[in-house]
Amino acid sequence: MRQQRFLSDVGRYFDEAAALSNYPPDLLDQIKRCNSLYRFEFHIRHVDGRIDVMRAWRAEHSHHKLPVKGGIRFSPEVDKDDVMALASLMTYKCAIVDVPFGGAKGAVQVDTTRYNEDQLERITRRYAHELLKKNFLGPAVDVPAPDLGASAREMAWIADTYQAFRGAQINALGCVTGKPVTEGGVQGREEATGRGAFYALREACCQEDDMTRLGLSTGLDGKRIAIQGIGNATYWAAKFCREEGAKIVGLSDSRATIADPDCLNEDAVSTFKREHGGVAGFPGATTHDDSRAVLELECDVLIPAAVECQLTEENAARATASIIVEAANGPTTPEADTVFRSRGLLVVPDLYANAGGVIVSCFEWLKNLSHVKYGRLERRYRAAADARILEALETATGSRLSAADRAEIVRPVDELTVVNSGLEEALVEAYQQLRNTVRRVDGVDSLRVAGFHLAIDRVARSYLELGVFP
Ligand code: NAD
Repeated sequence: MRQQRFLSDVGRYFDEAAALSNYPPDLLDQIKRCNSLYRFEFHIRHVDGRIDVMRAWRAEHSHHKLPVKGGIRFSPEVDKDDVMALASLMTYKCAIVDVPFGGAKGAVQVDTTRYNEDQLERITRRYAHELLKKNFLGPAVDVPAPDLGASAREMAWIADTYQAFRGAQINALGCVTGKPVTEGGVQGREEATGRGAFYALREACCQEDDMTRLGLSTGLDGKRIAIQGIGNATYWAAKFCREEGAKIVGLSDSRATIADPDCLNEDAVSTFKREHGGVAGFPGATTHDDSRAVLELECDVLIPAAVECQLTEENAARATASIIVEAANGPTTPEADTVFRSRGLLVVPDLYANAGGVIVSCFEWLKNLSHVKYGRLERRYRAAADARILEALETATGSRLSAADRAEIVRPVDELTVVNSGLEEALVEAYQQLRNTVRRVDGVDSLRVAGFHLAIDRVARSYLELGVFP
């Protein structure tokens, strides 16, 4: 039921924004529909002879740009409708942050805690091979990435499987992103989704008019943040926000919430979770035996960063945060969104707030196609140019910088710096475009509606340029 609801929820958000656009209904219908869905099953034989049959999917929501792009989810709860909803969000997300992909998503219905590493490797490689057989995998057609339950390790297995069958393709490594840096990945991809959510929150918090309306000061310093989850997106979002002066007052896993008004440390909590199998009982914090309790903790900012449909009509009124940053996909149902809008909360929606992952994935894909590390060509040239400018300034002013200051200014550019700068640029620019859409388009009264409106406009223009619609 939850999955069906998620798909229809995304459809409802789309319809609300579509009603405010001037595009013809058949074009809007084309944009909304999922272009291709590959559903398949495969079996895994264990050493003891037991056989497990896995259900799996890959949805390619929109082919208006190729390749299509979107993560792979490993979860016992995932279903076809989840995959279709997530694929459609990828289309809109890519359009909002202006990366040249259509949207896609894949999933294997599997409880990863029941399998050892060897078995997970066989599951992942078999899944990749099935996609490859049907042309649902490749640098020019469909490029997956990690999502819930998957990480760089699984992406390395997928890349290796692809290369085993298509090794002669010069761009084979670009068949998947989120790979380890040593296997063709890019610096900064692992933390990109959390860093992106941090940039999104930072942008929201530096808008003086919004902060005044919400009764908050500008900036992150001292803001109390509760985060649902303690996985990839959560860990990095918590780290960057805490380093900027915010207090992490709550975290959760799928079973429990821990709260500490004095600030939790994401490293200590992650280590505790690894050693004890969960966050419950983390020393010095209060434990609530419910992963959703985190959504109702006393805080200024709430970052749902786990799964969909967490904020509903049932609990929306009890959320105390003034700002909600959706690092997860689909955490807020339309009913909860209505409550938040009527209460005047600022919701930074998923289709923008968690786009950091796909932005840096785009950089990784481009690196794989160009076969050159970021910064390599201009690194020495730029450092020499900076040194020359500095020397000219020192000669003109007659004063000299310390060795440490000089080293900081003429520091050669590295890949991580370039990637983070590109990520920041994409998210800052998109935030301003969302705010402008709210200001300029009649009827657009939230960043979410603005996001869907902007995405519909960009995808519609692509279809019109392709000549698909007269
Ligand atoms: P992850 O597997 O690293 O972490 C997931 C977290 O959610 C864990 O802390 C887990 O305990 C918790 N969780 C799992 N099931 C839950 C449940 N039923 N109720 C409450 N908590 C539950 O996953 P991730 O990659 O951090 O993804 C988290 C969210 O971020 C997802 O919605 C995903 O679609 C979205 N996202 C991830 C990326 C990425 O690059 N990883 C990119 C964009 C969006």
